[in-house]
Amino acid sequence: MSVGSVPPLHEDSRRDGGTLMGSDDNFDIVVVGAGPVGLSFAASLAQSELKVAVVEQNTFDSLANPAFDGREIALTNASIRTLRELGAWDVIPASDKSAIQGARVLNGSSAFALRFDPPSNSGEPLGVLVPNCRIREALFKIVRLQDRARLLCGHSVVDATNSQEGAVVTLSNGARLTARLVVAADSRLSATRDLLGIGADINRLGHSMLICRVRHERAHHQIAIEWFDHHQTIAILPLAEGVSSLLLTLRSNEAYRLLAFDDDLFLSELTKLCRGRLGKMTLASKRHTYPLVTTWAHKFRAPSAALIGDAAIGMHPVTAHGFNIGLSSQKQLARGIMTACRDGRNVGDPDMLHIYERRLRLSAAPLYHATNILVGLYSRDHLAARLARHLGLRFAQHVPLVRHGISAELQR
Ligand SMILES: Cc1cc2nc3c(=O)[nH]c(=O)nc-3n(C[C@H](O)[C@H](O)[C@H](O)COP(=O)(O)OP(=O)(O)OC[C@H]3O[C@@H](n4cnc5c(N)ncnc54)[C@H](O)[C@@H]3O)c2cc1C
Repeated sequence: MSVGSVPPLHEDSRRDGGTLMGSDDNFDIVVVGAGPVGLSFAASLAQSELKVAVVEQNTFDSLANPAFDGREIALTNASIRTLRELGAWDVIPASDKSAIQGARVLNGSSAFALRFDPPSNSGEPLGVLVPNCRIREALFKIVRLQDRARLLCGHSVVDATNSQEGAVVTLSNGARLTARLVVAADSRLSATRDLLGIGADINRLGHSMLICRVRHERAHHQIAIEWFDHHQTIAILPLAEGVSSLLLTLRSNEAYRLLAFDDDLFLSELTKLCRGRLGKMTLASKRHTYPLVTTWAHKFRAPSAALIGDAAIGMHPVTAHGFNIGLSSQKQLARGIMTACRDGRNVGDPDMLHIYERRLRLSAAPLYHATNILVGLYSRDHLAARLARHLGLRFAQHVPLVRHGISAELQR
């Protein structure tokens, strides 16, 4: 392990992408991507003596002040504990945290609702919604203060080579970084994953999620709603009083058609799609769209390399678990690395990476596949799928084990 003293970067040198000189380009770990998972991984290593570089294609300013991107991340209680351990939870203003006190799943025009409620004695909500930009901002503040972490912003990774001896990463400005371990956290379409020669199942679903915040007349009572209807799914996430985030999953051409409408036309279309459920609505944010792509990397490691977050597993957002899994994946890897260091092993120890991969596969596969089955069931509209949806919801409602199991998973 290299334990030489690495002075924290001055803000100015960070702003220009942290120009590297001499031995400054040798790291123990290079993390590609300063998204929420890459940043939390760097923060998880704060207690180690490791010299870490986080490379991000976006600018320093866009990381320091990330713009609202429409995403409200439903955090499980386990994720909140992790963010608290990293020091990020308390940095997020209370006004940006919205408790989910229950969830209902609706099917078409049926009055039946599958209910998920927190156990009556737990005293904790099912989860808490926090805007993605606030999570990123909080983690960025934490990593900036770390003595041994360098943020290299404004340049993307364009090449990566790896062997048992280590990895070399080349940036778009020509800088070459050497590391004993390279960690790809550069999203579901990860270029680093490709450069490392790791394949992935990538499903482009032909649907997109259109998201916006609305102010509305009727109270939401902090209850989240997932409403599966013909050719569309609407999720209604409760934020402040009288404000919700609406997530419409539509065929991509339909989503882009709605995106092109002016605000008045869009609102009247939205009111029709919601069938007046929230009463009169006004827009409370811009609209954002996300083409839906799911990914599952064939491997989560290679010699001197590992994948975390969406680069490893890109979940469909319908079950709101992508970041929760990513946060847990980075924690597992960081723990493995720190244990290896304590035992005098290399940070890229192949046995440690093997265990990391096996645990992540075991813990994430059931949710990943169950989510994809659910998406398949709810995006088809033939009679058999409709019947299966109807029976599935009633079955789940009357088998407490299923409902409580899902509530426990959310509350974990
Ligand atoms: C609409 C929507 C709603 C969601 N809701 C939830 C939810 O409720 N709960 C939940 O748990 N999850 C949710 N998710 C999933 C969650 O947003 C992702 O799992 C999470 O953002 C993944 O974080 P990440 O850091 O792995 O990747 P990303 O957030 O994609 O960040 C990757 C970073 O890598 C950088 N990068 C990319 N390529 C390069 C390169 N070559 N060189 C340098 N940098 C690079 C990018 O600029 C970016 O900053 C949702 C997702 C969507 C789309």
